[in-house]
Amino acid sequence: MKITCLGAARCVTGSCYLIEGAKKYLVDCGLFQGGKEIEKLNREPWGFQPGEIAAVFLTHAHIDHCGRLPKLVRDGFRGKIYATRPTVELTKILLLDSGHIQEVEAELQSRKNRRRGRSDLTPLYTVADAEACFPLLEIIPKDKTVPIEDDLRVSFRNAGHILGSSILEIWCGPETAAHKVVFSGDLGRKDQLILKDPQPILAADSLFVESTYGDRNHKTFEASENELIEAIHHSYRSGEKVIIPAFAVERTQELLYVIGECFRNGRIPSMPVYLDSPLAIDATEVFRRRRDEYDEAATEMVRNGIDPFSFPELVLSRTTEDSIAINQKTGSAIVIAGSGMCTAGRIKHHLKHNLWRPGASLVIVGFQAAGTLGRSIVDGQRAVKIYGEKIMVRAKVFTIGGFSAHADQSLLLNWVSHFENPKLRVHIIHGEPRSSEAFAALVKDRLGLPSHVPNLGDVITLRPIEAEAAPVAPGPEVAAQRFDRFMTRLATLPPALQAKLWAQMEADLARSEARLETALREG
Ligand SMILES: [Zn+2]
Ligand SMILES: [Zn+2]
Repeated sequence: MKITCLGAARCVTGSCYLIEGAKKYLVDCGLFQGGKEIEKLNREPWGFQPGEIAAVFLTHAHIDHCGRLPKLVRDGFRGKIYATRPTVELTKILLLDSGHIQEVEAELQSRKNRRRGRSDLTPLYTVADAEACFPLLEIIPKDKTVPIEDDLRVSFRNAGHILGSSILEIWCGPETAAHKVVFSGDLGRKDQLILKDPQPILAADSLFVESTYGDRNHKTFEASENELIEAIHHSYRSGEKVIIPAFAVERTQELLYVIGECFRNGRIPSMPVYLDSPLAIDATEVFRRRRDEYDEAATEMVRNGIDPFSFPELVLSRTTEDSIAINQKTGSAIVIAGSGMCTAGRIKHHLKHNLWRPGASLVIVGFQAAGTLGRSIVDGQRAVKIYGEKIMVRAKVFTIGGFSAHADQSLLLNWVSHFENPKLRVHIIHGEPRSSEAFAALVKDRLGLPSHVPNLGDVITLRPIEAEAAPVAPGPEVAAQRFDRFMTRLATLPPALQAKLWAQMEADLARSEARLETALREG
């Protein structure tokens, strides 16, 4: 068995990994995003025959993980695309939108080309190509080991990153001598709004772990919430707008959740909040339907009759006319629009109208990839070009990391620390080089695990794992005696130390319970 890194290696987009054994499979088939150079890769040859791929396993619906599926299908892929139910629902919405963007961008470029006497540009794929993926999408249950072929089984576990997002456990090879590979997918934060925490995984032979924030830690959520409130007050005082570029899935719903709570608690003054994105409006509907994915706090809100994603000030802006009308209105308002990295869509118009206005606020809540308009603003450029026009950056820019849907360095390290195999081979992916390398060094230093950062196109051979002799269980009586002895000795310690050891013991027990669950599941 071998795995080829065909995307999101030393970069954060284009997630795509080819697994080759008796058959060929893909984990993700994402779009490269973030500037012309990297986006050229979307039109490069695949590195395999799409018709040969038996199945695709989709970690989640973000376009950098699913956005090349329509091209894959158009180029001959006929297998199944396995994903969780919310991922399937969100993927449909996002692929249709992406197909539309591809068509519009190709048409704009073609018009330019024609004026220069050059030939037309065909879109990477069309809305019809996106629709052609739908019959291949197959819902897979969570937390179950599902046999796909004789040589491959897979289990989707909660990644807590966006609705439906999954960690993949994949057993390659025959059942008795399988090599277990884990793909973290994108990992969410602990105690993230709306979603349950990422599932710790204990067993694997090889691990592919994301490292988007492998070199830094987020501010706390409270600090981020305070900063958002500060931005809103800042612009409210000067009667200007707060512009928030947001990914349509998850970030938007988190913002609605937080802003709604702030209105209900009186922490911000009443003002219109425009959700200026048909895509985000549709995605929010999926969130509303999939309550089974909510964490306790969100479930409690629903129980108390509160819609976590709505409040009286919310104005949904679907049509282009609705969107244009926002810029004609004066006075304070909050505008949430896509795209999340300011590369396309309605946000560019809002930036053009507000970025130069002192008193306005630009609130950056998501990751801004190198080469994007969002990144140049975050990096402090004094002026930027939008639709060919030079626009001064006079608005106050707030960069708020605590809303990120990605785990930060300490959480990533904590998640990797749960693996128990001291020979675990750790491949650090889905990060810019600086971030991936910093995290690889940390995994080596702190956890003593062999780690490396693959390049795009690197092939990783999964060596067969020698069957190890299973440890013999001591029997329940011996275990009970040991436990009693431990408790007796624990009782002799000072209370503070007792509490500390007891807390550690509880964590150990939780891990043992998780191991038991895994053992039961895997037989
Ligand atoms: Zn993602
Ligand atoms: Zn990603």
